[in-house]
This record gives sequence, C-alpha cells and structure tokens, in this order.
Amino acid sequence: MSDFDVAIVGAGPAGGQCARILSKEGWKVLLVEQHETFLANNFSSGACPLEVLETYDLSEQAIGSYWHNIEINTTNICRRWESSNSLGVVFDFAKLREFLATQAKVNGCEVWMGCRYLKSYQESDCTVVNLKFRDRSEPISVRTKILVDATGYARSVIYTSKKERPNFLKIAGTEYLLKVDEETYQKYAKTLTFLFGHYWSPKGYSWIFPMDNCQLKTGTVIYDEPHKLLPKINPLKDYTKNIIKTHIKPKSYEVLDVHGSVVEYSKELCDRYYQNNTLAIGDAVSTINYLGAEGIRHAFRGSEIACRHISACLRRDITSFEPYQQEMQATFRKDWNRCETIRRKVYLEYSDRKIDLGVAYLKYLTLEDLIDVLFHYKFEKFMNGSRRYLALK
Ligand SMILES: Cc1cc2nc3c(=O)[nH]c(=O)nc-3n(C[C@H](O)[C@H](O)[C@H](O)COP(=O)(O)OP(=O)(O)OC[C@H]3O[C@@H](n4cnc5c(N)ncnc54)[C@H](O)[C@@H]3O)c2cc1C
Repeated sequence: MSDFDVAIVGAGPAGGQCARILSKEGWKVLLVEQHETFLANNFSSGACPLEVLETYDLSEQAIGSYWHNIEINTTNICRRWESSNSLGVVFDFAKLREFLATQAKVNGCEVWMGCRYLKSYQESDCTVVNLKFRDRSEPISVRTKILVDATGYARSVIYTSKKERPNFLKIAGTEYLLKVDEETYQKYAKTLTFLFGHYWSPKGYSWIFPMDNCQLKTGTVIYDEPHKLLPKINPLKDYTKNIIKTHIKPKSYEVLDVHGSVVEYSKELCDRYYQNNTLAIGDAVSTINYLGAEGIRHAFRGSEIACRHISACLRRDITSFEPYQQEMQATFRKDWNRCETIRRKVYLEYSDRKIDLGVAYLKYLTLEDLIDVLFHYKFEKFMNGSRRYLALK
C-alpha cells in the first residue's frame, strides 16, 4: 500500500491549489479526481477580478479572456461601465484546473485522474483510503496522515451519511458555451454582462461572459427556495435560451457545450470543517460567496489557510484542526452572512420594479466603486450611490 503525507480528494480549484502548495513545501501528496479529464465537468463561468492572478500566482494559460467593462441589465434598465484597462479575467475552468494539477505534478505530487473516492477508515494515527479507478474493476487502498475533502458541494469524504449533514441552501446553475459570429462576439467581448429581474432570471441571475476565439459563456443560476411574489417559474434552461434569443441574438451560432452544477451552501457556515485527521476545504465548507455564486478565489484563499494548518500538523506543531475551523469562520462568516441576507431579499423577495430601481441607483457609482460592491462586498458604496440618485431626482 502506498503512503502519503496528504491525500486530497477532488481536483477543483480548492484541491488543485492545496496540492500545489503542499507539494511545493516538499510533502508527499496524492491528488485524486473522479473525472478522467477536466473537460468532463467544465461547469464554472470563471469570472474573477484581476488581483486573483497575482495573489495566487496563476498563469496566463488558464485565462479564457480579460474583461474591462461591466454591463448590468434588468427587465427595463441597462447600465454600463467602461475602462480601457483589464479589470479581471474569465478563466477557462478546464485549463485552470489542468494548470494547478500540472504544477502540483511538477512539484512531485501524484495526480490520479479518473479515480473515485469510495470510503476511508482510521488505522492507528493514519487513514486508509479506498479508491477506484474508472477503468479497473478492483478498488485500491492508500494510507495517508491527513485526508482532505475537496469534493465541492458533494462533501463525499467529511460526511459518511446523509443524516450527519446540516441543512443546505441550494442553487442550480446551467451554462451554454456558444461559438458566435464575429460581429455578435465584439458586442460582448471584454465585458461581464449580468442580467437580473423577473424577465431575465427570476430567483437568481444570468450572465454573458466572453472567452477567446468568438466564444461566449451564457448561463443562469436559480436559488432553490420559494419567491415571495412569484408562485412559479420556468425550467432553468428556458431563461438561458431566452437570453440567446432575445439578448445576444447572434447572426449565427453553434452550441459547443452545455454544462451545469449545483451549489450547496451552509447558512451561518455550520459545515463540518474537520474530523480527526480529515479536513474539508473549498465549496465543501461553503467558501463560495452565496450572493454572487462566485467561489474560485475564495476556494484558493481557504486552501491557503488549510495548507498552513496541515503543514503545522505534519510538523507536529498542532494536534487538532479546531484552530483551522476558527480561522476559516473568522475569515468568511461576517461578509458571508451579510451577503446571504442581501441575496435573500434581492432574489427571493424584491418586485421587478425594485430590482430596476436598485440598478438605476448604481448609475452614480464609478466603475471602481461598483467593483468594490460586486467583488469586495463594500455595500456602503451602494448606499452612497442611491443617496446621490435620490438627491439628484
Ligand atoms: C454554474 C456555475 C457558475 C459559476 N461561475 C463562477 C464564476 O464565474 N466565478 C467564480 O469564481 N465561481 C463560479 N462558480 C463557483 C465555483 O465554480 C466554485 O465555487 C468552485 O469551483 C469551488 O471549487 P472546489 O474546488 O471547492 O469545488 P469543485 O470545483 O466543485 O471541485 C470538486 C471536485 O471534486 C471532484 N469529486 C467529487 N466527488 C469525488 C469523489 N468521490 N472522488 C473523486 N473526486 C470527486 C469533482 O469531480 C470536482 O472536480 C460557479 C459555479 C456554478 C455552479
């Protein structure tokens, strides 16, 4: 049986980054991913602000395109902010995860693709992990000092049964990858386009993000809870199809891929962060921001915190992961609780008119302020904008 210092299950942004950091520090690391290639679950839209590249030392090769502008549409209003500089990136999600796994490999990490986690059990101070390759009939076992659950919303490792799980809030998301004609592409290139309001996307929001090579990603997320005013809504895909038909209106297009996923978020961050020498990272501990369903850079941030605690544990400087849970909750809880309250109001309580009005207020924000609201959760800037709007009216 092979022995590792750390076995990480799931090669998403959280698991890939964790493997990359720990292998660079010289620990013996195994990263396993159930899919054979990263194209198999290429679900994430991958929009991030620019600082993510430098903060997490990411490569240009993971980028689908850069964005300079933001446009926000509601049922009746459109607001647009422009810049001559790049303000962020749209990752090619498959290439991003490929990059992280490749870097981990270069650092000496073993990366096993097409390998599924089955179960694990304690054996003295180690954990034995049962895994199964897709193309082999017999499971195999490895022994590890620390086991990491980076399986995203599935949380396949940290909970052994459904009964143990807290109640989660749920989002369903679907996205189309389109190849469009050059003229249509230019309308959306360099711009993050968001669509809110009951016509475009009741109980959630939609987007159109540019990739390279005349490709656009367009999708919709819907929060799986009742709306105060809307008794019934259409199936998820109808909203994305409507955006293609009535917003993008391409002269010609081809659907290259349709993908989707779900998010399960624990309100108040009541996730299980660790148990004995197993700990959970990324979406498995609700690092995703539930207001914007934006989770890549937060998964990175959480992984960095986890890696510090894992290294300390391997060096025998600490004997429990309780301080990991405390640091994670101190890092995320305050902002995440505020965002959750706002998202409930906007997506599940507001009338269409109120959403129009909210976006009308944004007119008086600079692009920098808007980015602070959308990506740094400085909602006081929104309040300043709305006061200015009302004063001028
Ligand atoms: C439709 C949609 C659009 C999004 N758009 C954005 C965006 O624009 N910007 C942004 O920042 N975030 C976005 N997100 C959120 C972001 O993608 C996630 O927060 C992020 O991927 C979480 O990373 P993770 O590594 O924790 O989990 P994941 O990315 O979910 O990775 C988990 C991995 O574990 C693997 N796995 C699961 N079970 C097992 C098992 N038993 N054995 C082996 N492997 C297993 C899975 O195959 C998967 O590869 C979006 C999410 C959705 C659903």
